Amino acid sequence: MVAKIISGTSIAQAIRGEIAGEVAGLQKRHRLTPGLVTILVGRDPASQSYVAGKNRTAKALGIHSEQITLPEETSEAELVRLIEAYNRNPAIHGILVQLPLPRQINAAKALFTIAPDKDVDGFHPVNIGKMMLGERCFLPCTPQGILELLCRSGIETQGAEVVVVGRSNIVGKPVANLMLQKRMGGNATVTVCHTRTRDMAAHTRRADILIVAAGVPKMIGVEHVREGAVVIDVGVNRIGRTPEGKAILAGDVDFDAVRLRAGAITPVPGGVGPMTITMLMQNTLQAAKNSAGLE
Ligand code: NAP
Repeated sequence: MVAKIISGTSIAQAIRGEIAGEVAGLQKRHRLTPGLVTILVGRDPASQSYVAGKNRTAKALGIHSEQITLPEETSEAELVRLIEAYNRNPAIHGILVQLPLPRQINAAKALFTIAPDKDVDGFHPVNIGKMMLGERCFLPCTPQGILELLCRSGIETQGAEVVVVGRSNIVGKPVANLMLQKRMGGNATVTVCHTRTRDMAAHTRRADILIVAAGVPKMIGVEHVREGAVVIDVGVNRIGRTPEGKAILAGDVDFDAVRLRAGAITPVPGGVGPMTITMLMQNTLQAAKNSAGLE
């Protein structure tokens, strides 16, 4: 069997078209332009490239976007003051603080300062709590993007055995929680594996849908995958550079081997990554609509 490739790039492109249409409609009918600010502290090259991508995409969709880069030595109090100013700024509907932050700043303190109604990354405890309860809220972008990929690829989650590798607060835990919710796109039986899991392959081989977010290049091989399973590779690992200096990326899944056994698989790059950015745009649009009391 050779797996169907689930192209995050093309699914994301379709959704971006829908978002751009809605943004234009909001401007025309309500004179409202969704606004996003990204705040980066320091000069981590991967983070710089992520925020540049987010701002580029926002602009392409007609979203007003501000990109703030603060020096590495910025204090926690300075960052908090800046976030508070954006909380009060009516032109900005979404605030994103790029992680990781330098050591002198407590990431939780920074993230919890963002007003929950501008928390388009979905990391504030109010939003995480609402997600747990199945209430309307901003969902974290990567897990939301994974659900959207599955849904738009026609993959049934109801009753499916879903195995998630990784239990981070930004991917593993929330995606496991969402797959568990009693609603469409959820209703799965979910297992979560981590570094203390005994015999991980025994779990992953049971999966109808295997979601891997560990940050370990090519850790999932054919021996971990059931014939015909759907494999979602969240991992983005920089494993080298091309002679031109471009980063060479690898996922957490050994793509070339696993695609001969899986039923469907996401590539890296071009799988989950474009969906994450797209969900950020969708959340920003939603935040703008919420601010005006629109559905
Ligand atoms: P993280 O915070 O480092 O968490 C990694 C998780 O994987 C931890 O729960 C860890 O277990 C588990 N793990 C690590 N090695 C393992 C192993 N050998 N066996 C079993 N479990 C293992 O990472 P993250 O932030 O969730 O990110 C994971 C990957 O996804 C990274 O490559 C990251 O770059 C990528 N990512 C991509 C996107 C995107 O948009 N495409 C977004 C976010 C993250 P313990 O808890 O026991 O330590």
